[in-house]
Amino acid sequence: MAKRRPLIAGNWKMFKTCEESVESAQKLKTLVADVDAADIMIAPTFTSLFPVHGVVKGSRIGLGAQNLHWQKEGAFTGEISCDMLVSAGCRYVIVGHSERRQFFGETDESVNRKIRAAVSAGLLPVFCIGETEAQRESGETFSVLDKQVRDGLKDFVFDAPAGVVVAYEPVWAIGTGKTATREQAQEAHAYIRSLLETLFGKPVADAVRILYGGSVKPDNVKALMEMPDVDGALVGGASLDPETFSKLVFFND
Ligand code: PEP
Repeated sequence: MAKRRPLIAGNWKMFKTCEESVESAQKLKTLVADVDAADIMIAPTFTSLFPVHGVVKGSRIGLGAQNLHWQKEGAFTGEISCDMLVSAGCRYVIVGHSERRQFFGETDESVNRKIRAAVSAGLLPVFCIGETEAQRESGETFSVLDKQVRDGLKDFVFDAPAGVVVAYEPVWAIGTGKTATREQAQEAHAYIRSLLETLFGKPVADAVRILYGGSVKPDNVKALMEMPDVDGALVGGASLDPETFSKLVFFND
């Protein structure tokens, strides 16, 4: 089958004020104005979402959030709902990033609630999974991925075959400069795709985009993107500078 449409996604984490976010988004918008071959997402902090929406609306850049709460509204101090994200202009939301799992108590169960709430609200979740270094070294990579996918997508019904984006992000490669080799990425992506086929059938497995994340840079993106099951990248550090991120968007040039 034809390769899925690539998605190059930037996670700005807890970087950039509103002014800095707007300035970066403006620069990026100019740099990627001619891109045709890939979808683009940027995920600024919550406070920058609406101002950045003002910059990117109508452009090729889709807006994403970095987290959400699954309840519609209520007494949940410090949280944000899907409807709030939609009204701020979001199309995407990152769910289950390893930093949230590691530092903020995110579990496969909360990830599952968030994915279901996001899709019900019309958001496209970017569902992050990945093993730690110790898990890889003890040969548990596939069993970790298996559990994260099964539990994260428990009772999930795909209304559209491509209704979720999966991001395979080996924890040992995030922000460390240690990228998985393209063979390691392909092996994990192929495993995830075959598991999706087992759980949800071939149309879903064929349609779901699986991004690789972990120290993606302009000098390694092309090699990764050549692998048959790598459909894009989720990028932290290299997404902060618009020039560098635009080079990832034009990975084929
Ligand atoms: C990430 O945070 O999702 C990530 C992949 O970070 P980095 O690109 O900096 O490794």
